[in-house]
Amino acid sequence: MLSGDCPLVATPVSDVQFRNVTKRYGSVTAVSGIDLAVPPAAFVALLGPSGCGKTTCLRMIGGFEQPSEGQVLIRGADMAGVQPYRRPVNMVFQHYALFPHLNVEENISYGLRQARPRLAARDIHFRADEALAMVRLAGYGQRKVHELSGGQQQRVALARAIVNKPTVLLLDEPLAALDKKLRTDMQIELQNLQRELGITFVLVTHDQEEALSMSDLVCVMNGGRIVQLGQPNAIYNEPADLFVAGFVGKTNLLSGKVAGNFVDAVDVVLANGTVIPARKNTPLAMGEAVSVSVRPEAVRLVPPRQDGLEGTIANRIFLGSTIEYAIQVPGIGILLASASHSGDALFAPGQIASIAFNPNAPMAFAGTKNNEITQRERNHAEIISGRPAD
Ligand code: ADP
Ligand code: MG
Repeated sequence: MLSGDCPLVATPVSDVQFRNVTKRYGSVTAVSGIDLAVPPAAFVALLGPSGCGKTTCLRMIGGFEQPSEGQVLIRGADMAGVQPYRRPVNMVFQHYALFPHLNVEENISYGLRQARPRLAARDIHFRADEALAMVRLAGYGQRKVHELSGGQQQRVALARAIVNKPTVLLLDEPLAALDKKLRTDMQIELQNLQRELGITFVLVTHDQEEALSMSDLVCVMNGGRIVQLGQPNAIYNEPADLFVAGFVGKTNLLSGKVAGNFVDAVDVVLANGTVIPARKNTPLAMGEAVSVSVRPEAVRLVPPRQDGLEGTIANRIFLGSTIEYAIQVPGIGILLASASHSGDALFAPGQIASIAFNPNAPMAFAGTKNNEITQRERNHAEIISGRPAD
């Protein structure tokens, strides 16, 4: 943002900008009133559940779809009526289609060979080599596509997309088909690649871990709208609403009603009568139904005491650097707590523990949403308590 007292500093032009963009397919509104300005050379993730409009946004940047209303701009230029191949943009798909009858270099340089005015053969060869080196496939130019692994083929698709030096690279769930180890490697490589190239990457993903770990900026979408735009830590620590709190990262959602109302905090009375303090980021009314979000790492287990929440350890899962507890709390259901196992006392399944929250960790949001607990946690809770989990 420009501040008023330095008028000579130019606003950097956004690589990608949406101005009040809506996209309808017949009676379906896929994207609704989107405003977004992606800073230059940023790694931005469009994150949201299936069907929330992520791919539609990407396709409008690429020029494969036209907005029903509003404008899409690239480097400040309105893209209305500009054909995909005229845009300074390339797209990598989950199901990248390489030409099976061409070798790796031919696949990568296919677009360069169509360029007019023509490029010299040695320039084409040089650029293909450069792109191959970028994706760590130097020396693979003469290989046939079918001689490569899935991960290597995905890298060829990436090399093909960067060989003509686009302003923006669009990636639609490009890693979804890879196994976990390869996906993690590729996540790091994509980040490095983006920094090396210094161009904007727009990544579409429904995987919140991927979005948080890879991008500078996360744009959380729901129902065709942007619900929050921010840096990963802000999205995780200061979710804008109940949807973001529940969708991004694991959290405990406790339903209750506002029993005390202050400037930026509330007291919430939970279903079992316990009152807990919580932060709020929007106005809430006395008596209003709310959900309090508490991350598992902000839940602490302490030896039983008189006041506050108490529960039975239903399950203990060893996760390497942390231990995750599922705690059956009467009248509330299952709470998850995550403890680093160096400092914290160990609790065993069946034991009773009191539950404390880190100060300022609980956040209250308007509305109610069910805690999403896994079947494994549910099964363990049933075994421990002898009755179905709430
Ligand atoms: P996402 O990528 O987030 O899963 P999409 O952008 O693909 O979501 O789709 C958003 C909504 O628009 C969905 O309801 C989808 O069914 C609808 N949609 C997408 N493309 C079309 C199309 N070509 N025709 C009709 N409806 C579509
Ligand atoms: Mg999609």
